[in-house]
Amino acid sequence: MRLVMASANPHKAAEIAAVLREAMPSVEILPRPSQLGDVAEDGETLEENALIKARFVFAAAGEPSIADDTGLEVDALGGAPGVHSARYAGPEADPVANLAKLMAALEGVPYSERRARFRTVAAVVLCGGSEVLADGVVEGTIALSQRGDGGFGYDPVFVPDEAAPLTFAEMSADAKNHISHRGRALRALAAQL
Ligand code: IMP
Repeated sequence: MRLVMASANPHKAAEIAAVLREAMPSVEILPRPSQLGDVAEDGETLEENALIKARFVFAAAGEPSIADDTGLEVDALGGAPGVHSARYAGPEADPVANLAKLMAALEGVPYSERRARFRTVAAVVLCGGSEVLADGVVEGTIALSQRGDGGFGYDPVFVPDEAAPLTFAEMSADAKNHISHRGRALRALAAQL
């Protein structure tokens, strides 16, 4: 079996490929076709957005395709940025601006009240059009300041419970994949496939 990745984000694609290679060694993982444009991620849920991306790539590539959509839910912000995590600070989807906006929104909030979780929904569209979905969650806390230079996106401020006090950005790629929202969603998806 071959699976075409929908993600154009090199960090995310590397995580997806690493987890799937371990969970499904017989599957060949292919990069997103380079000539593909963007698709509007205008769903109201992570499930809808994951399916929008997987269906878009399936339609273009004509082969089984895999996508994920991730949201960071912060309790002190009523679950925001959630499904809007990629464009929290504006339509240009700038991860540095998103992180700055998150830290500004939590200014003065004590560590004990900065509970949060990453949630990922992974979706595969198979030949014949059948669709498989799975999700994964990791609980944690938003750090008081950024630490580490690994990972991407909100990683420098997310302290997963299982690795505290390290942030995701202070962990190795393997260690992150082992406990992350994305790792969990992809392993659950692989089990279904
Ligand atoms: P999307 O799933 O690519 O739409 O990502 C939503 C937002 O969450 C983007 O701003 C990403 O940078 C961020 N994000 C997604 N996955 C992760 C992760 O594993 N760690 C940190 N930030 C992430």
